[in-house]
Amino acid sequence: RQSLKIGMIPADGIGREVLPGAKAAIQALGSSLPKTEFIDLLAGFEYFTKTGTALPQETVEVLKNECDCALFGAVSSPSRKVVGYSSPIVALRKKMDLYANIRPVSSVAPSPEEKPQVDLVVIRENTECLYVKQETQTVGENGKEARATRLITERASRRVGEMAFKTALARPRKHVTIIHKSNVLSITDGLFRETVRAVPTLPGVNGAYDSVTIAEQLVDSAVYRLFREPHIYDVMVAPNLYGDIISDAAAALVGSLGLVPSINAGDTFVMGEPVHGSAPDIAGQDIANPLAAIRSAALMLRHLGYGDGADRIENAVDEVIREGRYLTPDLGGKSKTSEVVSEVVKRI
Ligand code: NAD
Ligand code: MN
Repeated sequence: RQSLKIGMIPADGIGREVLPGAKAAIQALGSSLPKTEFIDLLAGFEYFTKTGTALPQETVEVLKNECDCALFGAVSSPSRKVVGYSSPIVALRKKMDLYANIRPVSSVAPSPEEKPQVDLVVIRENTECLYVKQETQTVGENGKEARATRLITERASRRVGEMAFKTALARPRKHVTIIHKSNVLSITDGLFRETVRAVPTLPGVNGAYDSVTIAEQLVDSAVYRLFREPHIYDVMVAPNLYGDIISDAAAALVGSLGLVPSINAGDTFVMGEPVHGSAPDIAGQDIANPLAAIRSAALMLRHLGYGDGADRIENAVDEVIREGRYLTPDLGGKSKTSEVVSEVVKRI
């Protein structure tokens, strides 16, 4: 690659406050990356209230035609139905075919020599399940009746399953846990479970995953065990909604949602994104934790093949956490977002 073009979509709330930190961390890598260009792109609920669209066509076109990758902040999707509005992040994942959401959750050990207590990756299917958003409401003998379609396909389950096995193979413990609720939803979750289980026997795999061990767990007890014995998990692969919930739960184990990064990955594009939302309760105060966004930039760079740069960013973040002097209030500190960013940049 001669140059690296990164689409920047801050969107709403603290998304706008944490994304500059991710940019600063990438810029701090200097000449160890190819010539890097950031392209600011519009999307979000606030943009919708001004223009009537949450994800302008131009943003999608620039991502597809000009960018190598992107970083997304967070969007403020209202809980009530707003006519004409649809979440731009859910749409982007589908439009860019970013079929796997990879969410590493790990705690920082007291010293680099020690092992972290929590060290797992949630791999969330990113394009279907209840997020196809096919909801209807009718009136029947029980009053209003609301229904939603939950779509599970073999193709999407296989692709996310392959991502899970590939991810496990690259990790020391090489263990995949399939999360499902097939005891109740035997057709939909049953398809997910069986398809992921069959990945090692697919034509062309030729025993590549023989060293990977497979377990499975019902989603409710998976959350229970996650809190009681997080060390049993390595790679957790789940349908969209369960993956969303499990990763927020896992974030609590490591201290804050403000620490947990992700990438939305497809075969030809990658978009980094902190796991958290737009946090309206703390937006506008310069106290949002920028570390999840900064770590998302590192994950994105590693996915593109810049592992050394990713290591430098991640080590700087770990150092800041370990030192404990420059932390935002979610981690019990008193630092501002901007102060945390400059401490990370110094250490890069
Ligand atoms: P949230 O993740 O925004 O916040 C949950 C809690 O965690 C809040 O108390 C918040 O202050 C805290 N928190 C989150 N990120 C933090 C950070 N970086 N530093 C410090 N504290 C942090 O979830 P929510 O409150 O349920 O949702 C708020 C809005 O965000 C909603 O409109 C929702 O639709 C949206 N949302 C967007 C995304 C996304 O863009 N991918 C994801 C989840 C929620
Ligand atoms: Mn979420």
